[in-house]
Parts: sequence; structure tokens; C-alpha cells
Amino acid sequence: MNLPPPFVPGDSVLTGVRASSGIAIGPARVFNHKNLLLPDYRLRSESLLESEIDRLQQAKSVVRQRLNASREALPPELKSQAGIIDALLLLLDDPVLSKKTCSLIREERRNAEQAVILTLKSISAIMENVADDYISSRLSDVEMVGYSIISALVGHGGGEMPEMPEGSILVVQDISPAEVAKLASAGLAGLATESGGHTSHTAIVAQALELPAVMGVKNLVAGVANGDTVILDGRTGHVIIRPDEDTLNFYRTRQKMEWSFNAEIVRSAHLPAVTLDDRHIEVMGNLELVEELPAIMSYGSEGIGLYRTEFMYMNRKFLPGEDELFAVYRRVVESTAPNPVIIRTLDLGCDKLLEESAHSPDPNLALGLRGIRFCLRNRPIFKTQIRAILRAAHYGEVKILLPMVSGIEELRATRLLVGEMERSLELEKIPYAPGLPLGVMIEVPATVFLARELAEETAFFSIGTNDLIQYTLAVDRGNPEVAEMYQPLHPAILRMIKLVLDIGRETGTYVSICGDMAASELTAPILIGLGAESLSMPPAAIPKIKRLIRMSSHSELRAWAGEALLAKTTEEASGQSNRNLKRKFPELFR
Ligand code: PEP
Ligand code: MG
Repeated sequence: MNLPPPFVPGDSVLTGVRASSGIAIGPARVFNHKNLLLPDYRLRSESLLESEIDRLQQAKSVVRQRLNASREALPPELKSQAGIIDALLLLLDDPVLSKKTCSLIREERRNAEQAVILTLKSISAIMENVADDYISSRLSDVEMVGYSIISALVGHGGGEMPEMPEGSILVVQDISPAEVAKLASAGLAGLATESGGHTSHTAIVAQALELPAVMGVKNLVAGVANGDTVILDGRTGHVIIRPDEDTLNFYRTRQKMEWSFNAEIVRSAHLPAVTLDDRHIEVMGNLELVEELPAIMSYGSEGIGLYRTEFMYMNRKFLPGEDELFAVYRRVVESTAPNPVIIRTLDLGCDKLLEESAHSPDPNLALGLRGIRFCLRNRPIFKTQIRAILRAAHYGEVKILLPMVSGIEELRATRLLVGEMERSLELEKIPYAPGLPLGVMIEVPATVFLARELAEETAFFSIGTNDLIQYTLAVDRGNPEVAEMYQPLHPAILRMIKLVLDIGRETGTYVSICGDMAASELTAPILIGLGAESLSMPPAAIPKIKRLIRMSSHSELRAWAGEALLAKTTEEASGQSNRNLKRKFPELFR
């Protein structure tokens, strides 16, 4: 299993970010948002020409409505940016664009999608040769408007996804978390993308579904043709295109060995995670989709440490109602009982968007109306969710977790709202559980430095290392260009985690860690050494992390963490930590 990969000169090998482990081998299905798989036909009769123009106009009015809605929804502090949307609205009615598109329909009898594409191509052929920043930014505006019209024409966020024969590997520029969830159920074997990073939400969904994935692969789509055999190695980040027979055989053997190793560790997954010197570490599962429930149970989880509820809101036209939410939450709570479920309230925003806002012009989604900010601004949506959670809590142990908190006010405002919902359920005589513990995600750096004060008003903390790293190091977690700057073992990150764990211990506040650092064999030992007593991770990671805990002594992990804490650079901290790990677990490095 651990031999070096036998790439041979005939193989084409690209490298990206390790997004979800596992090996997948299969035929590629290539999807290029910009020009593949859009309908392409000629309009046969005169009578169809005007209705095609109508279809184009309707698509434009959909885009116009979306742009106007986005403009309206701009928060007061961003109203000054409305000009950007106005410019797009003007482009939508640009006479040159319209004239060219309509003439392609009328004179060349092209369908509307192709008419828009050909217009965009001719405009970019002219503008691309002009070395002027202003002109090239106008070109991207034109493209944005053009592709929005195409999306509206095909009635989808970015064009229809291709048919996905079972066992194929999707090769794509970019894909939303919700689309991955949809395709995985159709038998997808692996995913390779040009965009995204290890903790992007698309990667998180791939991990949840145990779908091997490599993301952030440059020049991927151009280098693969539909039907090419592709090998994905989610552990090394390699994508091997058109491998020769020797490479294929090597990976087939390695894939079988991985499967049998995983089956073996799953067999011992029900054993408690107790270190050699008798310290119990709680290991729980992260849940995104109810499909993961059986895995969470069979992989020996001690509860659900993070239920990411936003996925139920994505990929659909209408928001879920209280009864629908309640039914799903109740199922999760009852399946997990007697273990607890930490339900995180909606964390929409950033790369998790409602379908209607998938074309949001907000250039800075990660710093925008995300998580608790969105909920407190959209109270009817928040109230519906809180009522559903309170009702589900009648059937098992539930705690409520708030995402993206940056100050105590958000916690207080939510507490008032929860009280209001308790009273409404009481009046309506609907069964619910009162006084649920209300916890705060520690993922915005401000909360690290407010942890002592927050501890006075909150029941527990959950450290979200994915965002804590993103916001502390100012590195977009989904941007492959800065993937190597996304450093979990950065000294500032280690010190912040230690600070929160210490405050938790001193104040008697329960602290769990639910970001990806808890799921990685390279970082979980350091977290435990820093004092973490509870970790939550994708179900597939539970057996391997429990095994690692059972093979370690707490005192040695404390010593490793102590060394890492003294490091001045990431290189120093990860060098020390990797040396220690390599000595004890050499198999992790082969
Ligand atoms: C985190 O930020 O670490 C986290 C667990 O939340 P999410 O990945 O959903 O943003
Ligand atoms: Mg987060």
C-alpha cells in the first residue's frame, strides 16, 4: 500500500489539494461550465425564431429581477456598492450585446444559449488583446452577465450537469456542495475540480459521503476528455489521466489494500477511545446529510458533535417549513439517542448559499451576512428553525450551537429569541424541551479573546478550526491559489486553541473541536496534547482517530504539543510534530 506511485512517462499526472481520501478509478465525465453540454441546435422553422427571442427576453428579466433583489438586499453599510450592480443591469440591456445575440437567433437560427455563448466569444476575442485592466474587468462583467442569462435559460445555477454513469469520475471547474450531494447518490466514484480547498464545503460534503476527491487542480478540465480513464488519489492529491497498464494495476492493488485496512479498523471502531495512560477522549461525528446516520452509528461515534443544518436549505427552490425540519431533526435525535446531538443553527453564506442567492454579487461572502448574522437579520427563517429544534429536543439530548458568532450581543439576542419560541410552543401546547444548552462556535478570532466573558453566558464552546484558520490567517479556505498558506499548525492557531481550551478548563465550560484539525491524523494528536477532551469529525475519520488515540499515551501527546507551542513558525511546529508522529506512526507518512 505504501510504495511510491509508479508514474511512468506516458501517464499524465496533475496534482491538487487532498480534499477527501480514498482512491477512485473510472471513466471521466467532464463538465465545463463555460461551454460544454449546453443545448446546441438550429431552429427549424420561422415561427420558432420569435419564441426563441421571447425565451431570451424572459431569461434576461429573471437576471434583472435577481440583480434588483440583490441590490435591495444590500445592507446599509454596502449601499455604496450598488453601482456595481447598476453596471451589470446596464450591460444586461447593452445594445451591442442584444443586437448580436438576436441576430444570431434570427439570421443563423441558433438556439438562445448558443447565441449568447457565441456573442460572448466574439466580444472576448476583441477585448482579450487589449492590455488594459479596466477593459479586462469589463470583460469579466460581460461574461458574468452572459453566463447569468445562460443559467436562467437552462434553469440552473450553471448549466445542467451531465448524466453520470455509475462508477464515473466527475471532472469539473467548480461545483457546489449541494450538487455533489445530488450526484453522489447517482453512483459517482470520485471528484476532481479546478477550484476549492481541503476545508471548502464541497470537500466537506465529499468527505461526508466518503467520495474520493482532489480539488484545486490547475488546467484540469482542458487536459481530460470524456471517457478518459482517470485515477484519483485523495490521499496524495494526484490525478492520473490515461494511465498505462502498470500504473492501473498498482492503484487497483492499493485500492484493495485500503479497503481491507479500512474494514479492519472499522471492526474495532466500537472500542472506546482511551489512551494508553487511561484518558478517555470523546469522539463524535459531524453530520451534514441524514444519509450519514448509519455510518455515524457503525463507526463508533459517541454522539453528533456538529450537525450542519444548512444543507437542508440548499439545492431547493423553497425553504423547508417547521414540520419538515422537525421530522428530520427528530429522526437524527432518535437515531443518536441516548447520545447527544449538537445542532448548529443555519450557517448559510460563504460557499453555502440558498439557490436564489447563488448568483450573489457580494464579492466577499466569507465576511458577509453569514451564519448567526444571516439568522438574526432573517428572523422568520431563524424562528422556524429554532421551533423545530426545540420540538425535536423532546425526543433526546440536544444542544444548540451558534455559528459565526463575533460578539456576546449575538448570543444574547439568540437567547431572547429562543425564550420567545419556547413561550409560543407552550401556548400552542406543542411538546418541546425547555432550557436547552446554548453554545458558541469559536471560529471568528474575536471570540477567542472574548472566551472568558462568553463562558459566563454560554453553556459550551465548539472550536471550528476551518474558519478559525481562514479568518486568523486571512486565507480563503476554498481558494487553491493560497492553499499552502492555509496552515493548521501555524503558531498563532495553536496558541489560540490552547487559550480557549485553558479557559474552558478553568471556567468548567465544555469545549469540543469540530473543524478538520480534529479529523486529521497529523493534527488530532496535537489537539489532544493541547488539552482537547472532545473531538467531532466526518464519520469516516472516526475509526482511524479512535485507533490513534488507543495507541498513544496522553503524556507523550502533551509533550509533543508543548514543543509545537514553542515554535515560532509553522515549518518548525509541523517539522517537530511530523518527526514525533513519524517515529510513532510511520505508516502515516508512506
Ligand atoms: C469550522 O469552521 O471549523 C466548522 C466546523 O464549520 P464549517 O466547516 O461548517 O464552516
Ligand atoms: Mg465554520
